[in-house]
Amino acid sequence: MSNMPNLKLVIFDWDGTIMDSVSKIVLSMQRAAKRESLSVPSDQAVKDIIGLSLAPAIEQLFSNISHEKVASLVLAYKAEYEILDTTPSVLFEGIIDVFELLTERKIKIAIATGKSRPGLARLIAQANVGHYFCDSMTADEAHSKPHPQMIEDIITRQGVLKDEVIMIGDSALDLTMANNAGVKSIGVSYGAHDAVKLQTCNPLGVVDNAKELLDRLHSRN
Ligand SMILES: [Mg+2]
Repeated sequence: MSNMPNLKLVIFDWDGTIMDSVSKIVLSMQRAAKRESLSVPSDQAVKDIIGLSLAPAIEQLFSNISHEKVASLVLAYKAEYEILDTTPSVLFEGIIDVFELLTERKIKIAIATGKSRPGLARLIAQANVGHYFCDSMTADEAHSKPHPQMIEDIITRQGVLKDEVIMIGDSALDLTMANNAGVKSIGVSYGAHDAVKLQTCNPLGVVDNAKELLDRLHSRN
């Protein structure tokens, strides 16, 4: 990975990058489909739409369904997710060490997620990690990934330059968003997409766990 001696801001995706929530999302979507009498999508089909905002995600997953059906699936998904979420999702092992290293180096940390604002706020509070983040963008405040708006708005608010920023995510959507915004990216292979798929987006690199991510960020000097 090329050095980034001028790194000032790291933008993280949430689901599948910070929080180990992918299996919960997959199961919630499959149960919502069943509840709405639609054919149940495969695990990988659901993983491929994680990161999109919920309505466009559902439109992509279930082709040719009415707006009314999309709306009822959104409600069904949220209901199923809340049922499963009574057991809190955990953060990926070692991700706090990454936040600690960046904080120690005075490198800012932000979030760009396809979750809603209330959903993200609830999980940040649950995981008690709010103090690490200087900024965040959610699905209800911007165009869905891979549109670059989330990254662009954060960069503008934080007053940094594009080459001082890196995006970290588990989906091709995250890395494509970074490409669209003109910022560098690192893929993590432990979430929605494997390393082969992530490499097609030309990230600086792909890491297999948070420890490797820590090493990559450490070795930049
Ligand atoms: Mg993700």
